[in-house]
Amino acid sequence: MVTDSCRRDLGSRHLGRTSPRQAPDKFMVENRNVIIIGGGVIGLGIGWQLAKAGASVTLYERDRAGRAASWAAAGMLAPLAEAHTEEPELLKLGCHSLARYPQWVKELEADAQMSIGYRTEGTLIVGLEPDDTHQLQHLYTSQKQLGLDAEWLTGREARAIEPALSPRVTAAIRCAADHQVDNRCMVTALPRAYQARGGVLCENTSVERIEVNNGVATGVSVGETPRSRCNTGGEPSPSQLHPPVGESQLPPVGETSRSRCNTQSRCNTQSQLHEADVIILAAGPWSSQIPGIPDAIRPPVRPVKGQMLALQMEAGIAVETVIRTVRARYPTSVYLVPRTDGRLIIGATSEEMGFDTRLTAGGMFELLRGAWEAVPGVYELPILETWTGLRPGSRDNAPILGHTPIENLIVATGHYRNGILLTPVTAYEISKLILTGEPSPIIAPFQLKRFL
Ligand SMILES: Cc1cc2nc3c(=O)[nH]c(=O)nc-3n(C[C@H](O)[C@H](O)[C@H](O)COP(=O)(O)OP(=O)(O)OC[C@H]3O[C@@H](n4cnc5c(N)ncnc54)[C@H](O)[C@@H]3O)c2cc1C
Repeated sequence: MVTDSCRRDLGSRHLGRTSPRQAPDKFMVENRNVIIIGGGVIGLGIGWQLAKAGASVTLYERDRAGRAASWAAAGMLAPLAEAHTEEPELLKLGCHSLARYPQWVKELEADAQMSIGYRTEGTLIVGLEPDDTHQLQHLYTSQKQLGLDAEWLTGREARAIEPALSPRVTAAIRCAADHQVDNRCMVTALPRAYQARGGVLCENTSVERIEVNNGVATGVSVGETPRSRCNTGGEPSPSQLHPPVGESQLPPVGETSRSRCNTQSRCNTQSQLHEADVIILAAGPWSSQIPGIPDAIRPPVRPVKGQMLALQMEAGIAVETVIRTVRARYPTSVYLVPRTDGRLIIGATSEEMGFDTRLTAGGMFELLRGAWEAVPGVYELPILETWTGLRPGSRDNAPILGHTPIENLIVATGHYRNGILLTPVTAYEISKLILTGEPSPIIAPFQLKRFL
C-alpha cells in the first residue's frame, strides 16, 4: 500500500493490492541455495533479506561491494520530484519503497550497528526565471493530478525555508515527503548486515558465465584471480574493515582493495562451477553482458553516465534541504544534497556514453554553474571530490524485476535514477518471490517479459 508518507491520496486507479505475506516454509528456506551476481545496493539488499529468512546465500562481486553506481549516487529518495503522469506504476513502486524506508533503516542500522544517514527535511524544486516557473507549474499540475503531497511556494517563501537560495528564485515546489539517505553509508552497512546474518560475500570474484542447461539455470562459473576471496559473518570483509560512517576515510569510486579472506566458505573460488537452486542477476548495467543467457532474453540495460562533485559546506553557507532546479531554457538541471557530515553533493549529468567514466571539464562546469545560480554561496566552497557513476537504465527506464524465461534465473536490475529509492521494495519483494514463488502485484508490471 502507498502510505501518507508519500502522498495524501493516491487514487485507487494507481493502487495495486498486496497479497498477504506468506510465512516461508522453514525447511524450504533453509535448503534454498541462492547465488547473487553483483554487490550493489540491489544484490546486497536482496541477499540480506534472504539470509535473514534463513536461505543459504553466496554473493559474487567482481570488485569491491557497493563501489559502482550505489557508491556514486546522491541518495535522494524522491518519487514526488520525479513524478510523471505517464509512469503511474513506477510512481507507485517508488512511493511504496519510500514508505518502507523507516522500517528498512531501523532493521539495517540494528544489524549493521551503524547509522545510514536517513534524513527527512524534504526537497525544494526551484525555478530561476519566468520560463522555469511555467515548467514548475506543469510539474505541480501533474503532481496534483496524481494526488501527491506538493506545496507551491513563492520565491520569498522558498528562501524563508532555505536562506541559502538565490534572490533570483522565482517560485518553488516543496515536496516534504521526498527524503534522502547517505548511500555510501548504506553500502557500507549492507555487507555488514548481510554477513551478520550468515551471507557469504565473495569480492574480487567475477561471474564469467551463467550455466543454463535445457532452459534451467544451474549455477555460475566464476573467474579465478589471486584476489578472489569469500567472507562470512565471522570474518571482516574489506567493507567491514573500514570505519562505519566517515566517507572521507573510504577510497574513491572505482578503487579496489585486496580482500582479506580467512574463512571456510561455501564458495570455493578455485573451482569453476558453483551450483545453486536460484540465481539472481543484479549486476547493474553489466547485467546484459554476462555470457550464458541467450541473446534474445538478455535484460536490456545500458549504462547512463552521471558526473558529480562534493563541496565542503562552511559556516554561513550551509544548506539544510535537498534543492533541485528546473531549467526550461538551459539543458542542465542540477541538485544539491546536504550531508550530515558537512558535504554538499552536486549532481548530476546524464550522458549516453557507453561505459566511458571520464570526468569532463564541460560536465563539471555545468554542474558548478547550475549550483551557483541556485545557491550563490557555493562559489566560496572548497571542492572535496569529483566522480562519475553508471546508472543501469532499461529500455523504458523502469526496473526489470522477477522471473525470466530461464527457470531459476531471477533478474533485479535497470533501476536507473532511482535504485537507492527502490532498494527496500526490490529487496523485500524479490526475496518474497524466491521464498514463496509468487510475484506480488507491486512488481508484476516490471517483469522482463514486457521487452520480449
Ligand atoms: C550519478 C548518479 C546519481 C544517482 N543518484 C541517485 C539518487 O539520488 N537516488 C536514487 O535512488 N538513485 C540514484 N542513482 C541510481 C542508483 O545509484 C542506481 O540505480 C543503483 O545504485 C543501482 O544499484 P545496482 O546494485 O543495480 O548496481 P551497481 O551499484 O552498479 O552494482 C552492480 C554491481 O555488479 C557488479 N558486477 C558487474 N558484473 C559482474 C560480474 N560479472 N560478476 C560479479 N559482479 C559483477 C559490479 O562490480 C557492481 O558492483 C544515481 C546513480 C548515479 C550514477
